[in-house]
Formats: sequence, C-alpha cells, structure tokens
Amino acid sequence: MQEERIVKPCAERARANMPDYAAARAAFTWAEARNSLDGLGQGRLNIAHEAIGRHVAAGHADQVALRWIAKSGARRDYTYGDLDRETSRFANVLRDSGLAVGDRVYALLGRTPELYIAALGTLKAGCVFCPLFSAFGPEPIHARMEIGGAAALITTKRLYTRKVAGLRDRLPDLRLVFLTDAEVEGTRAIGPLTDAASDRFETVPMAPEDSALLHFTSGTTGRPKGVVHVHEAVVAHHTTGRLALDLRPGDVFWCTADPGWVTGTSYGIIAPLTNRVTMIVDEAEFDVARWYGILEDERVNVWYTAPTAIRMLMKAGADPAAGRDFSALRFMASVGEPLNPEAVIWGNKVLGRPFHDNWWQTETGGIMIANYASMDVKPGSMGKPLPGIDAGVVDVTDNGVHELNEPMALGELALRSGWPSMMRGYLHEEARYRKCFRDGWYLTGDLAMRDAEGYFWFVGRADDLIKSAGHLIGPFEVESALMEHPAVAEVGVIGVPDETAGQLVKAYVALKPGHEPSEDLRRDLLGLARSRLGPAVAPKEIVFRKNLPKTRSGKIMRRLLKARELGLPEGDISTLESDEQ
Ligand code: ATP
Ligand code: MG
Repeated sequence: MQEERIVKPCAERARANMPDYAAARAAFTWAEARNSLDGLGQGRLNIAHEAIGRHVAAGHADQVALRWIAKSGARRDYTYGDLDRETSRFANVLRDSGLAVGDRVYALLGRTPELYIAALGTLKAGCVFCPLFSAFGPEPIHARMEIGGAAALITTKRLYTRKVAGLRDRLPDLRLVFLTDAEVEGTRAIGPLTDAASDRFETVPMAPEDSALLHFTSGTTGRPKGVVHVHEAVVAHHTTGRLALDLRPGDVFWCTADPGWVTGTSYGIIAPLTNRVTMIVDEAEFDVARWYGILEDERVNVWYTAPTAIRMLMKAGADPAAGRDFSALRFMASVGEPLNPEAVIWGNKVLGRPFHDNWWQTETGGIMIANYASMDVKPGSMGKPLPGIDAGVVDVTDNGVHELNEPMALGELALRSGWPSMMRGYLHEEARYRKCFRDGWYLTGDLAMRDAEGYFWFVGRADDLIKSAGHLIGPFEVESALMEHPAVAEVGVIGVPDETAGQLVKAYVALKPGHEPSEDLRRDLLGLARSRLGPAVAPKEIVFRKNLPKTRSGKIMRRLLKARELGLPEGDISTLESDEQ
C-alpha cells in the first residue's frame, strides 16, 4: 500500500487556494480566519448570516445559490436573494409559533429545497437545527428526537403519517409539527404560514459558543452519538471549504452527501454558501448515468463524494463515462471511509483527475486532514493536516499520551484540541465525551501512520485492528490489495479468533456484475493478496457475498460482520442499509 505511486493532480497548481502548503500553515491563525467573515457586531455571529446575508449585502443577491434537480430531472434555481427571503419567512414562522432561541428544530425531509430553507431559517432564528435522514424508520427517528428533546419537526405528510404520528405520545417535548405539503391532525401546513409571513427577518446575533447544530454519528461502531456544534464552527466550515475543497466564489459545486449526515450539512450547505458558490442538490439516489449527466450538464467545477459511490461507478466500468465532457471539473474529493488507491488511479484515468481523499468525523465538524488541490497525491493516503490543525500519531497508556515521531509508526490518530468546528459535547453523555480528551489531545479512535514527508495513512478503526501471529494488521490495507483484482467490487476484512495465531484475517468480497464466485477466483484472490501483502497479512479465508452490510452513510460495518462471525448480538443497527448475503 505504501509504495510510492504519486499522482500529480493540479494543472493549475499556482491558482489553487493553497498553492504553498508550508507557507499557508506557517501564516495561518484561527483569529485571522475569523476576521475573514462578517460577524454581527459585538462579538456575535450567525451561520445563516455568513451563508446568505453577507453575500446579499455585498451585492450578490442575483447569483444562483442552490440549483435543485428533482427526481424527475426538473430544475429549480434559488438565488442568494431568494434564499434570504425564504429563510426569513421560515424564521418568522418559527418565532411566531412561539419557538425560542436554543429550541431544537428537527427536519425529516428528502433533499428538497424545503430542507435547505428549514436548515438556514432555523439558524437565522437562533434555534438549533437537527437533520434526520429521511429513510430512517420510526425507532431511529424516535431515539434521535428524544435524545435532543425536539421542540419542532418539519416533514412531509407521507413521512409523518408513516413514521412519526404513532410516536407522538412518546415525544412529550414535541410542540409543533410542520408539513411541507398538507395538514393533518396534530400538524400545521407550512405553506400558508410562510406565505403569510414577512420575507424580512433580522438574523438573531448569537454568541460564538451558542449551539447551532445537533448531528448524530453514523453508528458504524455502535450506538450513534448526538454531537453538538456551535455557531463559531462556521469559521472552520468556511476555511476548510476554501483550503481543502478549493472552493472559489462563483464555482459550481456538488456535494453528494445527504444533510442527514454531517458531510451533507458542513459541506452540503454551510461551506459552499459561505464561499459563495452555486451548489447542486440532487433529490435522487445514486445512478451511474444520472451522476455523470449532472457532472457534465451542470458543468460542475468541484465534486465531493464518498468511496462507496466511487466504487459503484468503478463497478459500472468506464463505458458510461466515455465521450462525456468533464472539462469544467477542476477538483474531486472523497470522504467518509478509506479511499482505496485503485479508486484514486481510476478517477485519474476515467475522469481525468484523481480523487483527493480527506479525513474527518462528525465530532471534528470539518475536514482535518486532506489531499489539497496543489498537492502530489499518494494514492491510499489521507493527506496532510490543514493549516490550523495539529495532528499526531500517538500511543495511549496509563502514563499518558505519547506522540510517536518515527516515520510509519502505528498509533492512534490524535488532534491537538482547539479549532472552531470541534464538537462541544455528546448530548447527555458527558463521560463518553470526556473520555475522548487526554493531555491536550483529542483521541479519534482511528489508527494511522505518518510517513517521512508528513502524509497520513489510515490503518483502520481501533476496534477493527487485527492481531495475527504477532502482526498488527489494518483491514484497509488488505481490502485495498483485493480491490486491485478486476472482479472485485467491495471488500470488508475482519479478524476471527484462532487458537494459535490469536486472530486470522478473513475477507468478505462482493463481485462486479459479470463475475461469479468460484474456487478458481478464490484461489486467484488469495494468490493476489499473498503476493501484495505477504502470507502473514493476506487473508486466510475469503467469503463471497452479494454486497456488504453498510451504514446509510455508506460505511462498511465490519463490527456486524464480526458479530455474526462470533454469534454475538448485532447491537445497534438502526443505520444499517444494504445487507444481502
Ligand atoms: P460511529 O462514531 O457512530 O461509530 P462513524 O465513526 O462512522 O460512526 P462518522 O463521524 O460519520 O461516524 O465517521 C467518521 C469516521 O469515518 C472516522 O472516524 C473514520 O473512521 C472514517 N473516515 C472518514 N473519512 C475517512 C477517510 N478519508 N479515510 C478513512 N476513514 C475515514
Ligand atoms: Mg465515530
């Protein structure tokens, strides 16, 4: 994995937002980053103002802020001026309905304009926004609304009657339900209310430490945590959008994540708007032809997506991309899971540029480590810490946290506390929150290595590390080796108990269309893994599956493969999506 394949990414390196990494890091301070935003005077600010109001005041009301593509393919544009008016109406409705600053407003909506208006209108009114993924069933919805003490919910008639109506008596704090398309008992139609409301609203000036967002983690390792972010986080959203995603005013930007997950809010709403781009929102789910069509037709300049989606494009082969014009595409980035080196190379071959991986978590609120635009990409590496972020590889013992400075030492990925988008707590889980911090470090729960040039390499989650016959093996390395085989679409690797070796490496493999499981293929894959990784690290066993269990945010749930292997309880699987044996 660590072999030096380098992809030179950026034809216009000198024009990138961070042409010189070392100089940018040396010059960077968060105080200055704060000053690049407007604020609302007397040390107050509001995310909604930085996202919309600031641009309207500066004369950009007519620029398209949001281009919505309906499932049907129909398009609807909202300028910054439109968003300003619509979000003001929404904020007025919240206030007129008796909601107070700090009340939590939940959204259970597909990717429709109402979701984006609700998010920004809620923030404008000083309420806390909490998006829920619309495909959740009633119980995950209930758990998340109960944890956050939801005061209001905006949803649709269909989602309400199917999923929420039956929960109302178990949600005593829920005072108001707004529906976007109807009115049924116990709810109010939002349309007539916003129509009657004024399109002017004075954005509520918030203290930097006032809560703005409540986001639940993906639930990959266990029960999802409710992560609290504050208004000051916007400083990091804005800065990291500029530095890590190379967003420039006027760009067309497409983030494919749903706002039900943190990426879809930090980089699907806030960072693009504060950087004054035109953001694309697609209502539909993944579809190969549709996605290539959007990249081409909308002349997308910057594209932010996830490894699962990239692997699905790879699965479909290069043909659907052939003959298309991607000349507007300047930069492509990926987040959420380790990005296999093969995916980086594939992007470069088929789309003409590599995917730039970056790493962060719901907890960190924004991108921490990235392959930025002007950087040589080492496929398989997450990149380097952004300006303002100090990352280390550490060893945690009873005596404290020790940084491991020798190149390629394996340890826990840790960050020096102190950037604006860092979580301010796990809601109602103070002890769990405190456990993340030690000796001035935030401990991420991920394992990594840093090479001599300062590039970070993801090894696996601490929970997923495999110890076999004295070797420490990260599942990502084994998965990436198997991904090199042309028949392989996805791989999940776990350790299974073994009396002599401690653990043995076992791989679950899903194949591309046109390939069938066979003994020959199994032998082929074992041979490939042995030659790439050596016999000690290569899997001892390979099992074929239709697909792998994944969270709805697209992450392979290795803990579920492991629980099943060991006959243990499956734990919280509220975010489980595809799962065909
Ligand atoms: P939970 O905390 O509930 O178990 P989760 O950790 O998957 O779920 P998120 O906050 O959505 O919830 O995901 C963050 C995690 O995703 C990281 O800690 C890391 O394990 C993984 N991740 C994100 N980006 C990358 C990346 N570029 N490379 C490798 N892993 C990544
Ligand atoms: Mg996590």
